[in-house]
Amino acid sequence: MVPLSTGATIGILGGGQLGRLLAIEAARLGFDVHIYCPEAASPAARVAAFETVAAYNDVIALSHFADACDVVTYEFENVPAKTVTLIEASGTPVRPGAKSLDMSQDRAREKAFLNEIGIPTVDYYVLDEGEALDTALAKFGSHAILKTRRDGYDGKGQIMLGGARGKAGLEEARELAGRVPCLLEAFAPFEREISAVVARNATGTIVFEPSENAHQNGILKHCHVPARIADDVRIAAIAAGQKLADALDHIGVLALEFFVMPDGRLKANEFAPRVHNSGHWTPEACLTGQFEQHIRAVVGWPLAPVDRVFDIEMDNLLGDEIAAVPNGYEPGDKIVSYGKRSARPGRKMAHITRRIAPVHQEP
Ligand code: ADP
Ligand code: MG
Repeated sequence: MVPLSTGATIGILGGGQLGRLLAIEAARLGFDVHIYCPEAASPAARVAAFETVAAYNDVIALSHFADACDVVTYEFENVPAKTVTLIEASGTPVRPGAKSLDMSQDRAREKAFLNEIGIPTVDYYVLDEGEALDTALAKFGSHAILKTRRDGYDGKGQIMLGGARGKAGLEEARELAGRVPCLLEAFAPFEREISAVVARNATGTIVFEPSENAHQNGILKHCHVPARIADDVRIAAIAAGQKLADALDHIGVLALEFFVMPDGRLKANEFAPRVHNSGHWTPEACLTGQFEQHIRAVVGWPLAPVDRVFDIEMDNLLGDEIAAVPNGYEPGDKIVSYGKRSARPGRKMAHITRRIAPVHQEP
């Protein structure tokens, strides 16, 4: 892979906060960024040099976009496969490659792939086309989470069933399962959740220290690092992240989420073939953050060291919580706002990182 020189143009499919933070880092390193997004004035486009506002299936717009970019990456995994194929047909590489997208777009394929490469997940059951939810629950067990195979994020497309909920949600779940392809996942009585953010390029793989993550209603709310896990759990999470990136031949950053079970075993939940909310603490805590690392990987630059130099916390500001900026925070808290125009309930508007203490260096 010939490294791109500063001044080259990086295309990003998607215009959300991840694209915005990638664009800012790319600009700092000396690249121009071209955002491709169906909505005008997206959070990312407002900090980028160039913008295309068009649908992901607009063949002509995609061909112009491909011609204008030296490399293309994406900030969300639901980019249609056809979009990537069209860009690559114009001769512009898309990184990470098609396999990473393909394996992360469908929860059933994703879980099968993880298990196949030796990264265990929770038990799951894929509903056959036309199979009634009640039949599936009878076979699989009723304390489960129904998830759509595609397009879920921030807990959307999921319904928790059984357990303390009793029959609540069943009617809604029957309707969902009758409408789109779904799977059932066993409820995981986890002790905590962690994730490993991984960067890989053609010459190697570097994994950030795993973060401990707390969710509210399926939406990430808080991370802290170091995670409260034993050394062997930390090492296993890092090894699994590396194994996944290698198995995908991934170029760029990816994040692998896990449940830590009460006996210390890890069950992989899902992965995202991109920078991730649970890596938002890395720029302020590590020698290099996830956004710079992703840009380095996709332009063919060497990866940078990611040693963690601070203990840190990160909080997502959802919906109206953005109104507390700046008065609700200490001057030392780092505010990263996404520039979204409206604060719908639960919408990710900004995040705050707070350095707790420097990491003690061995003499
Ligand atoms: P999303 O794509 O919306 O992030 P996830 O599958 O990661 O979907 O689910 C979001 C959150 O919901 C998880 O981080 C976890 O807190 C909870 N959750 C998801 N699946 C399970 C499960 N099988 N058992 C227990 N909790 C779960
Ligand atoms: Mg998740």
